[in-house]
Amino acid sequence: MKKIKSALISVYYKDKLEPLVALLKQYNVQLYSTGGTQTFLEGQGAQVTAVEDLTQYPAIFGGRVKTLHPKVFGGILHRRDHETDLAETERYEIPAIDLVIVDLYPFEETVASGASEEDTIEKIDIGGISLIRAAAKNFKDVLVVSSREQYTEVAELLTQKEGATDLEDRKRFAAKAFDISSHYDTHIFNYLNAGETPVFKASLRQRTPLRYGENPHQQGAFYGDLTALFDQLHGKQLSYNNLVDVDAAVNLISEFTDEPAVAIIKHTNACGVAVAPTIEQAYLNALACDPVSAFGGVIVANKPIDKATAEELHKLFFEVLIAPEFEPEALTVLQGKKNRILLRRKNMALPEKQIKTLLNGIIEQDKDLKTETEADFKVVTKRATTPEENQALVFAAKVCKHTKSNTIVLARANQLLASGVGQTSRVDALRQAIEKAESFGFSLNGAVMASDAFFPFPDCVEIASKVGIAAVVQPGGSVKDQDSIDYCDSQNMAMVFTGVRHFLH
Ligand code: 5GP
Repeated sequence: MKKIKSALISVYYKDKLEPLVALLKQYNVQLYSTGGTQTFLEGQGAQVTAVEDLTQYPAIFGGRVKTLHPKVFGGILHRRDHETDLAETERYEIPAIDLVIVDLYPFEETVASGASEEDTIEKIDIGGISLIRAAAKNFKDVLVVSSREQYTEVAELLTQKEGATDLEDRKRFAAKAFDISSHYDTHIFNYLNAGETPVFKASLRQRTPLRYGENPHQQGAFYGDLTALFDQLHGKQLSYNNLVDVDAAVNLISEFTDEPAVAIIKHTNACGVAVAPTIEQAYLNALACDPVSAFGGVIVANKPIDKATAEELHKLFFEVLIAPEFEPEALTVLQGKKNRILLRRKNMALPEKQIKTLLNGIIEQDKDLKTETEADFKVVTKRATTPEENQALVFAAKVCKHTKSNTIVLARANQLLASGVGQTSRVDALRQAIEKAESFGFSLNGAVMASDAFFPFPDCVEIASKVGIAAVVQPGGSVKDQDSIDYCDSQNMAMVFTGVRHFLH
């Protein structure tokens, strides 16, 4: 147990301090304080020594330097059981400081208030954070109170132990102090860095437990603030798997900004995507792509859902529907089923970085924000692509970019016909796509094909030509590109290179 004989108090917000000050007075604790805090404490009837009187130095530079002085830091940091330290305190007339109470300049609130950079920089606390760190380091002898939230706890502790603390208490408060100082510095870093990564750092602070993880025997949680992106208008809480698919859905739909578009997502891959003059038609065309897989899917639209579309959607069992708006009658229809989740997307901004954990660390990358247009197509075959083929190829390439590798996407203008997803070879992906398209009654004659990466052999174009694929888009770049080009030429197929690979794992 260690009795507290002296305390330094320097706080930004002066409220909540009264009971603690009364207690310190009761235990005859000598108080040191900075300007504003001193005035406040004296107003409470406390006797206070100004830090300036202790240091024989005024606060300078508009308060930038107040407590940064060896007499203050020496008083906190000297080792009470060290003969030489004690001799030095005598020699330099440094009084011991046993308790440090600091409430830092409100940096986070200042940033949030939209203050100017000059005002914000002024709110970077220097002396206060140094006092906290010094007192926390010397927890063997010093108690540090680094937040207003701790006043009650400290008051209870001092009452219980009659103005004393033990080592365990001091260590606990020291740990909290470093928690507070590290968060404080993180906010400063975020402000000055102003990049994308800090979004993730900030999101780590907001944890929402999920019902479970990928499977019911796995616990799960989401870190971040979904309310910044969506208003949930209806339905149960988003599950772990829903969140994964919602992410895939909003990324895919961001490729389609002009005409109405709908995508249906299952396990992060699109099993239906279409662009059409109306959102209802876009939905019907997307659904036609694979009505079997659509069951239980996550659906995303880039335009408001009207009543007619809602009535069509209502016939399907789906988990989540995301749209920028729902017309009131549409909402009434869709709310007819209890659990279905309806999300109004109010903010299109997403971080431009992606992070995931693996092994004992995390990997980070820029998001794949490259989208190819017709201008990026380099015709490599004798036959050039027709305008209609180009339209279909741009569409297919967009879907391909958001489909798990290895993938082949088969499409016509404005409609996905089928894709092979997440296969260990591109030949498997193509075979899967052909089988699916044919099983849902689509003719592939005249359709187009997109590949996420180059063809190392001509096998894919050979298989594709047999079912009537007319044009192909792929990055190119294989040493054997020419084999695929020659085969296309022999069949009057057209092929374009983009030079951009879109792996998605
Ligand atoms: P007061 O209102 O007592 O004048 O100032 C209290 C505030 O000053 C506290 O928030 C404390 O963290 C901060 N502070 C204490 N010493 C220093 C210093 O040397 N420099 C700066 N910039 N802030 C300090």
